[in-house]
Amino acid sequence: MLGLMQDRPLLISSLLDHAARNHAGSRIVSARPDGSLVRHSWPEIAARAAQLAHALAARGVQRGERIATLAWNEHHHLEAYYGISAMGAVLHTVNPRLFPGQIAFILADAEDTHLLVDPTLLAGAAALADQLPPSLRAIIVMGSEADIPADCPLRGRFELLAQESLIAGQPTQFDWPELDERSASSLCYTSGTTGEPKGVLYSHRSTVIHAISTLQKDCFAIGAADVVMPVVPMFHVNAWGIPYSAAAAGASLVLPGAKLDPASLHRLIEEEGVTFSAGVPTIWTALLNWLRAEPGRRFAAPPRLVVGGTALPTAINAGFLKEYGVSILHAWGMTEISPLGTTNARKPENAGWDEDRFLDYARKQGRPLFGVELRIRDGAGAEIPHDGTAFGELEVRGPWAAAAYFNRPGDAAFTADGWFRTGDVVTMDELGCIEIVDRAKDVIKSGGEWISSITLENLIMGHPAVQEAAVIAMAHPKWDERPLLLVQPKPGMAPTAEEILAYYEGKVAKWWIPDAVEFVESLPHTATGKLWKADLKTRYKGRVAG
Ligand code: ADP
Repeated sequence: MLGLMQDRPLLISSLLDHAARNHAGSRIVSARPDGSLVRHSWPEIAARAAQLAHALAARGVQRGERIATLAWNEHHHLEAYYGISAMGAVLHTVNPRLFPGQIAFILADAEDTHLLVDPTLLAGAAALADQLPPSLRAIIVMGSEADIPADCPLRGRFELLAQESLIAGQPTQFDWPELDERSASSLCYTSGTTGEPKGVLYSHRSTVIHAISTLQKDCFAIGAADVVMPVVPMFHVNAWGIPYSAAAAGASLVLPGAKLDPASLHRLIEEEGVTFSAGVPTIWTALLNWLRAEPGRRFAAPPRLVVGGTALPTAINAGFLKEYGVSILHAWGMTEISPLGTTNARKPENAGWDEDRFLDYARKQGRPLFGVELRIRDGAGAEIPHDGTAFGELEVRGPWAAAAYFNRPGDAAFTADGWFRTGDVVTMDELGCIEIVDRAKDVIKSGGEWISSITLENLIMGHPAVQEAAVIAMAHPKWDERPLLLVQPKPGMAPTAEEILAYYEGKVAKWWIPDAVEFVESLPHTATGKLWKADLKTRYKGRVAG
């Protein structure tokens, strides 16, 4: 027997309609490169999104056609988020910090027909002109004609348009199509930390369910009165879905643009009354250090933060809470899961723990949101015990997890029984809380046992002479692999290999201690700021231990 409820599709257009109809009093504030602010309301964003959709439809853009953006967090980008997806086309956000070859690769892979570019990124796009794919029909600069320099090298090679001229005079209402909720809405490529970027194709349904789910108390906890500042970029995993969750909640948005330095962020938080923000640890580490160097600077009303992308250092969490009254929720996610998977909010079992005990526990990545199922299996395929010690690869299933990659059928990341293999190696404790100990590709497989490269890296970061460190596997004739430690010393310091290795004694099992130390001037990072181990592995490929 079927239920007798209305079968209304879950569409991105409904998020925009809801915010515009019911939350006209909330504001969308965008920071310009010169620091000045532009203000809109949800109805104004909805009108401009409708105009963009009309303009693209007039250019013949069809349902399912991919339209790329190369942009920061600002209002033109928000209008593209809604206008492109709501009309039935696919918003393809591109990370401007990727290497030029990677950008060209993913534009071609997606077969984008239009590229919307922020004026500050136009020169970068022009430098790529020779590599842009033939599918590209036009480049739309997210601003006015004045934002396109007369000598722009793209002139004459591509149709070059200004978004403001394109939308001028277009109707401010769009009769959004009633799409199948499973239709593709947006496309984002993984940052390629562990290989070629792979496209994740979100649907209207997955996006809306993810947005609603992230609003819950143990996740973003956003309401209409909140002022939400996504520092996480709109070019990567839809800024953790915040542009959508903010609309569902009817909240105000503060879009910080390209300037994410601590002073600019602190100013926005204070002047716009930001109550909630989300970003990677690097951003908050910089803000904390800046605040400490500016005695007297505080928050009039401390915002709540959600932090993820890489592990949250306990020292940062503790510093914000104890010195500035800012509470941080540690979250874990991935491009492939829209991205939110787990958060480490308190449960009845640890609700009574004192501050320091919980701060230590908050280094763990947390427990699943409703809708996210986790399975952890060891190298032999058996599920591991939930004792906080045994580790295995984390697999995920749920309505906002990917079922396949775009253009790459049969990828080994998807199991035959319908789970996505995250590539993260984790433990799970008695409270159901996971802790990432490594990426499956980075774990060092020594004599059939696993050594966590991340544990070795985190430990050595406590050595007073170490600026940054990476641990990778080197081949070993007897043990298959042994750890090699790469250390970037702090400026002016010259520790010896013996001093460095001695630091591990008593902290890890003897057989975990790296076989060798190399000192380097710097370590390579990916576009999303993570250690680029694939590059290191190539560089040290021939290195043999023993
Ligand atoms: P990429 O996989 O290309 O690095 P993502 O942005 O999708 O790009 O990153 C997802 C990965 O980032 C996860 O698989 C995990 O390894 C890491 N990650 C995300 N959140 C956390 C976190 N809170 N702690 C540790 N690692 C994290």
